[in-house]
Amino acid sequence: MFEVANQPPPLEPCNLFSSDAVLGEAVKREGAAWAEAALGALGETLGRPETVKLGFDANRFPPQLKTFDRYGHRLDEVEFHPAWHDLMTIAVRAGLHSSPWAEPKAGAHVARAAGTYMLTQVESGVYCPIAMTYGAVPTLRQAPEIADVWLPKIYAREYDRRFEPAARKSGALIGMGMTENQGGSDLRTNTTRAEPAGDGSFRLYGHKWFMSAPMCDAFLVLAQSPKGLSCFFMPRWTPDGARNAIRINRLKDKLGNKSNASSEVEFHGAYAWLVGEEGRGIPTIIEMGNYTRLDCCIGSAGLMRQAVTQALHHARHRTAFQKKLIDQPLMSNVLADLAIESEAAAALTFRLARAYDESDEAALAIRRVVTPAAKFWICKRAPMVALEAMEVLGGSGYIEESIMPRLYREAPVNSIWEGSGNVMCLDVLRAIARTPNAADVLRAEIDRGDARLGAFAGKLMDRLASSQRNDETQARALTRDLVLALQAALLLEHAPAAVADAFCASRLAGDGPAFGLLPRGSDLNAITRRAMPN
Ligand SMILES: Cc1cc2nc3c(=O)[nH]c(=O)nc-3n(C[C@H](O)[C@H](O)[C@H](O)COP(=O)(O)OP(=O)(O)OC[C@H]3O[C@@H](n4cnc5c(N)ncnc54)[C@H](O)[C@@H]3O)c2cc1C
Repeated sequence: MFEVANQPPPLEPCNLFSSDAVLGEAVKREGAAWAEAALGALGETLGRPETVKLGFDANRFPPQLKTFDRYGHRLDEVEFHPAWHDLMTIAVRAGLHSSPWAEPKAGAHVARAAGTYMLTQVESGVYCPIAMTYGAVPTLRQAPEIADVWLPKIYAREYDRRFEPAARKSGALIGMGMTENQGGSDLRTNTTRAEPAGDGSFRLYGHKWFMSAPMCDAFLVLAQSPKGLSCFFMPRWTPDGARNAIRINRLKDKLGNKSNASSEVEFHGAYAWLVGEEGRGIPTIIEMGNYTRLDCCIGSAGLMRQAVTQALHHARHRTAFQKKLIDQPLMSNVLADLAIESEAAAALTFRLARAYDESDEAALAIRRVVTPAAKFWICKRAPMVALEAMEVLGGSGYIEESIMPRLYREAPVNSIWEGSGNVMCLDVLRAIARTPNAADVLRAEIDRGDARLGAFAGKLMDRLASSQRNDETQARALTRDLVLALQAALLLEHAPAAVADAFCASRLAGDGPAFGLLPRGSDLNAITRRAMPN
């Protein structure tokens, strides 16, 4: 008779907040201790077996486009599995789509970041409309007459799944359409036209090659108006209650992110209002981009945490060659190395989130320079962590039920979306050049009086001060080193010595891209104990 043996018990239920020492410390340190009780409750909800199952179901039954009704009328609607709606309800009820704007207070962006960090560990697709709604608010505020009507809906903690005009709904969500077929990153090549309608509104004609979450209630969209590229607010329904002329041509068949719908759309005279100054569309919508880029860091850091959690859980229960995997010396190096990467990503992400809670000059410089830098590096590391963590589970890690394949497929998206790697690194060069206090602010962030970091940071600062920093061929190297220095500084100040020492001894010494390369003498047990979900 076949006996099931030597398999780990289910990890769930597992409170994603109270089981994560690094997260708990970061929340306190970065100013959101007041949110601990709510985060604990959210972590408990997200870590329940039934919530984890929602994530699996939402991905196994992906959204379906309904272009027409049975009679041939256009619908342009997307139908989701109930699991998607249940997850959206959890996220919106927790305020992850707008709480720092609806209830501003010190630490509000950090608290919200902690909630989304946990959400993305269970399901990343729902994160997309949540992140875009969060990011859209500062841009929307540039159009007070729209903001007056829409922000109360956006601030509501009610997820209203109905496809109805927003006026009849209890809550609203916002998407974004920038990317066109003929040129994505280079937004100036956008061809969508905006024609003034004579009543203060515009009609848009054109397309978007990527427009995710098309069941959002409205979108921020770029289009060429008579004065140049401008930002518009495009509702799904016109003010007189008709379906707006937004045609959903098809849904993208994506590598991962399966639960979420990403669409190709056409605008056939779609109703829209101008947001911000006409002809200044890029600076207007870029404000949203900063927040969604922060969310890419949060999403990738959360994904790494989930991958490392799964790996540690498996390794502490599975025996191979007479020892628990976690006690096999080489495996303990792999696990410790993964844990360090995850902690470094979380530490920098929450430090960055705090800059969004502050408004002094240093915080503004950090937002401007560190957001694209962190997005580049943290999102680049996530697929590598997902891959290595999957391998810790052996063959079972390659099987869908383990969640690892979903994490692996999901992992690259944050690197591509909202400005791909190169675009981020070029933005770092631009940000450093245009932010007068950047060098001083970065030096203050990095200087920790540690000899290893001092030597590394000294060379970095020399490059930042010289004309070398404008060399585009080296933009990735410069950005990587900037992020490594920031992460080392954070770990030296706030993490146990075992973590900080191993990080400096490996990352600052230029270790290769694989994991399990921590040098002899690293306190591997202390590192894995700290990361273990408890
Ligand atoms: C799942 C998913 C969802 C998405 N959802 C949305 C959405 O809701 N709304 C939306 O507007 N967009 C969305 N996008 C689009 C996404 O933002 C773009 O794909 C991304 O910004 C890159 O643009 P692109 O695809 O046109 O690539 P391109 O701009 O053609 O870039 C291709 C490559 O060239 C590099 N590159 C570009 N310029 C330079 C340069 N000067 N020097 C060196 N390298 C360069 C880029 O880094 C990239 O690696 C989504 C994409 C995905 C995958």
